[in-house]
Order: sequence, then structure tokens, then C-alpha cells
Amino acid sequence: MTLPTTPEGWAIHLSKLIKAFHAAHGLNRFPIKVAPIATEYSRQVFPESPITLVEGLALSEKFEGMLMPAPDGSGEWGIIYNKAITSKGRINFTLAHELGHYLLHRTLSPDGIRCTGRDMANWKSEFGQTEAQANTFASYLLMPLDDFREQVKGEDVSMDLMFHLADRYAVSLTAAILKWLQITNKRAMIVVAHDGFIDWSWSSDRLIKSGIFYRARQQTTALPERSLAGLRDASIDNLTGTVHPAGIWPGDEEVREMTLISQKNESSLSLLVYPDDAPDRRFAGAGDCDEPREWDTYDQFRWRG
Ligand SMILES: [Zn+2]
Repeated sequence: MTLPTTPEGWAIHLSKLIKAFHAAHGLNRFPIKVAPIATEYSRQVFPESPITLVEGLALSEKFEGMLMPAPDGSGEWGIIYNKAITSKGRINFTLAHELGHYLLHRTLSPDGIRCTGRDMANWKSEFGQTEAQANTFASYLLMPLDDFREQVKGEDVSMDLMFHLADRYAVSLTAAILKWLQITNKRAMIVVAHDGFIDWSWSSDRLIKSGIFYRARQQTTALPERSLAGLRDASIDNLTGTVHPAGIWPGDEEVREMTLISQKNESSLSLLVYPDDAPDRRFAGAGDCDEPREWDTYDQFRWRG
């Protein structure tokens, strides 16, 4: 049997095995249980270099996880996550990310790979290509497209739906929203902010094509003052959200904003949904009728600081 070579290929290959196994035993395959898959699959397919350890260890704060060869030179591998992390979704994503490194990169990196939170946020970049690949693998393994599409089909876009997806796949709310943004036909964007400033954002393809996104900047960008994320008003039902008139968020259109506000660490996560159809830009004045530029995806997605 020829084994896959791409992140998507590996995830689809494993997904098929997982789906068949669970169907044969009448089990629910979600959320995907990464640890037993990693040990079982590697034992059967790569008996000279199996994963024999998956566990949490006390790592330095900046590391989410690592893929490490056994120090005794036996050829065995271990997947480690930072046990200071308590979010089930983050742990699950980290395990899948490290399994991605094992399948795709272990022969390139025989000394192992250590991954920071920044690596986990890296989805497309010529630098850190391996990190983007591990993330793509994790996203496809934990949230297979067939099931993901089934879950969102005909559903209204809401934070409830995003929480449902995060719960079903045991991933973070951010990972679920990013996945949704990658497959949706809607014009939508996630904006994550901290201390009143935008950390990063990500627009769906259709929204980028209408020219609406935050570019990664060296200087900081403040949240719009009259946005829900900017107001941080606990008396408002921020999760249900509101429809803003044009001029609050980028683009000359009304925007529906749903925001999760964390009082604990002054952060916020907004899901912005624009009208399905962009205003007809041909009549919007000279200069607006240019073809959409080729945007580097990394351009719109960068951690601040
Ligand atoms: Zn990594």
C-alpha cells in the first residue's frame, strides 16, 4: 500500500480507517481520540519506530507540545503535551498536531520537534512550513470535512453552532471557527483581540475577494470603539450579537457581530458576518474596480508581539 505524503492525504487516510472501525463496532467516532490512534496505527504500520508514549509533562510555558525520539535510541517516539494546559480542546489539537509531525516530518527531524503556541497559530507561511502542515493535518483529522459539512448544513451562523462544533470535535472555539471560515461560502471574519487591540484576524475567501480583511501590521490596530468587542458591555447579549450599521467594522456595509468576551484576561473573540452579496463595487468609484489582489494568507494572520 502506498502511504500518503501530504497533510490532507494523511488525515483522510486515517479518517477512513477510524470511520470504518467505529462503524464496525457501532461506536461514535467523535471526538476523535488521538492517543490510541497514534499508538495503534504507528505500531502496526511503522513497527520499527512506533509511538509508545502519549502524555502530559511539565514543559516551559511557551511550549504547547513536542514530538520526541526515545532517549535510549530504541527508535520509539513520544508525543508530549504541556500539562499546564487545561483546555481539553487545546490538548487534543496539540496531540493531533504532533501526530502530524510524526507522520510527515520525523525523518527530517530525527531529534524531535518542539512546538510553541505561535507555531500552533501558524497556518500558512513560507517560514515554518512544517508547522502549517501539522496544523492542517490536525484540523482535517479532528474535523473531517464530510462530517463538518453535515453539521453546518442548513444551520444559521451563530456562536451556538460554533460551540457545538468545538464540543463535537473537542477543539478550541477558535479552531472550529477557523475551520468553518475555510469552507464557508459566507463573507465572514474572526477577530481576536487583547487589551483593546487586534491580535489577529482571518477572513473567509469570499470576504477577502471583496477586499475586506485586516492586514498584518507592524503597528497595533485598535478595536473599533463602537464594536461589541470594543464596548465590552456585560449587560449586552454579546454572544447573540447585534447588526451594526456600515462604518463600525471595515467595509462600507452593515455587519453582524457576535462576540465572546473574556473578563479574566481582557480578551475577546468576534465573529463578523457580512451580507451574502458584496455591494456592487463597479459603481463605488474609481479605484474600487480593481481585480482582487493575490493575498498571502499569512498576511492577514499574525500574532501581535
Ligand atoms: Zn509543531
